This record gives sequence, C-alpha cells and structure tokens, in this order.
Amino acid sequence: MKLLVTGGAGYVGSVTAARLAESGHEVVVLDDLSTGHEDAVAEGVRLIAENIDDVIEDVLAEGYDGVLHFAAKSLVGESQENPAKYWHGNVGTSLKLLDAIRAHGTPRLVFSSTAATYGEPDSVPIPETAPTRPTNTYGATKLAIDHAITGYARSYGLAAVSLRYFNVAGAYGAIGERHAVETHLIPLVLQVALGQREQVQIFGDDWPTEDGTCVRDYIHVTDLADAHALALEHAVTGEHRVYNLGNGFGFSVKQVLDACREVTGHPIPAVVAPRRSGDPASLVASSERARTDLGWKPERVDLTGIVRDAWEFTRSRQEA
Ligand code: UDP
Repeated sequence: MKLLVTGGAGYVGSVTAARLAESGHEVVVLDDLSTGHEDAVAEGVRLIAENIDDVIEDVLAEGYDGVLHFAAKSLVGESQENPAKYWHGNVGTSLKLLDAIRAHGTPRLVFSSTAATYGEPDSVPIPETAPTRPTNTYGATKLAIDHAITGYARSYGLAAVSLRYFNVAGAYGAIGERHAVETHLIPLVLQVALGQREQVQIFGDDWPTEDGTCVRDYIHVTDLADAHALALEHAVTGEHRVYNLGNGFGFSVKQVLDACREVTGHPIPAVVAPRRSGDPASLVASSERARTDLGWKPERVDLTGIVRDAWEFTRSRQEA
C-alpha cells in the first residue's frame, strides 16, 4: 500500500513508519519537524518536511491507499495552559486532513487516539465501552477528533480505526523517545541514571493503589507500531472502530523505578512530590477487542525488557 504517515518523525510515528516500510509498504512521512526529528525517519522513507495545514490537499492529490495520523500536540500540562494551541493544532488540523481525505477519496485512516479520552475510569481494566470523560484539554481534543472521524467514516465511506494508546515506552533500535521537554516517567528516570538529573520526583504516594503510587499500563512501542499495520488491514469501509492498546498489566511508579534501577545499576534517588494535576490513580487497558478483531498480541510485555530497550537507546544517543 502507498501510505502517508503524518507525524512520522515523532516517537510512535517514526517506529511505525519504519516497520511499515520494512514490511514492503511505500511510506511517505509528512512532518513539520516542530517536535519530530529528521534522523528518526527510516531510510527509504520519503520525508515531506511541511506543515499539514499548508500541503495536505496537494499531498493527498498524489493518491494514497491510507493515512496514519500521528501528528499532534501531546503535552498534557501545556494543553491546560494553552488550550487554543491544542484545539487548533489537533482538532483544526485533523479536520483539514479529513476534508482532504474526503476530497481525494483516500480509503483508509488510522488515528492515534489516547487513553486520556477516558479520564478517571470507574474501574480497570478499561474497555472501549467505558465512558469518555477526559480530564485535560489534550484528551478532549483527541476525543473530539474521534467523534469527527466517526461521522466522516459513516457518511463518506471512509474505513477508519482509532487506536487508544496507554503508556508507550521502549525503543526500536536507534529510534526512541526524544522530547525537547521531557515529562514522561521512564525517560526522566533514565536521565537520572545518565547523570543528567539528580533525582526523580514521585508525583504522590497516597493514591488508592497497592503501594500508593500511580499505576499505568506500559506498552512497548514496537508492539504498538505493529497494531497500526493490523488496523490498516482490518479497517472496514463506512465504519470507525476504536481499540485500546495496552498490555493489560499495571505497574506503579515505584515498580517502574525498581525496574530502572535493575536495568541501569544506578540507585536513582527519588523524592515524593505533590500529586500532578489531571493524573488518574490507575489506568490499565483491556485490549481484548484488539486481540479478538485484529489478532493483535503484544510480545514485549515484560517491564524490565521495555526499560532495557529504552536504556540502550538512551545510552547510544549519549555516546553518539
Ligand atoms: N510520574 C512521576 N514523576 C515524574 C513523571 C511522571 O511520578 O517525574 C508519574 C505520573 O504521575 C504518572 C506516571 O508517572 O502516574 C506516568 O506518567 P507519564 O507522564 O510518563 O505518562 P502519563 O500516564 O501521564 O501519560
């Protein structure tokens, strides 16, 4: 298939683009490099380093079999401080993309949605039928796009799939997580192990969880990338399907710290800090629907292995 990957120079997008190209698809990345990295675009993948809003009409006019839409603003804290950036950057741009898809009859769309669309869940693991009550602007914009996709799929004959990611981690060889402003737990902890940061903060140890720290479902970026290929294959014209992607296992912040200590051999000092605004206590996915409908099965579920891949990537960047 000829595939357009928006945001294909970012973390999940670049791994997915690489895996799709390796499996024989013709892959074109559209990324304005505002947060992505040119050197994360795999060899043999064409990069269009432009803004989606400016060029999407012309790009899709070339004729594509599908679009994988990763490009987005994705910092929860920033979305609370600057909602306009998120409503325009996420929803506005996605509507432009949907209109171009419609205009040029692009048959398939796979969209990067998020567990943040659910907000504080009534219970875990979270199925796709759980109520969607996002607790931050980031999640609200992703949910709004999901609603728009539902309408475009039904009324304009698009085959669409939204994939709701839980906590993505790990690396795919030389491609991994590199944010200018790092807010995610595992990369921050690894910065301590590298000596770039003195200690890590634990955002609250009085949550209603077993050890008092927040529980998350960490999924390896390669398993996540492979779900996109399956979603493309299984997308049905006129339907918008939604799948949660996680391992189904929850790990607390303290358990993540222990895994990082084991992998790096560094003591990783940690201090307890106040809770972070908008954090739910526990987010764990039920991915039964993806397993049943798509035949998806995450293969790298061991937390230590996920951290090890992230660590090898982080160290190799340090040495480079
Ligand atoms: N967290 C933490 N200290 C940090 C960064 C994150 O305790 O410096 C916690 C955060 O409160 C959450 C978990 O680690 O419970 C995962 O946070 P992350 O930002 O990686 O992902 P999120 O779950 O927000 O998507």
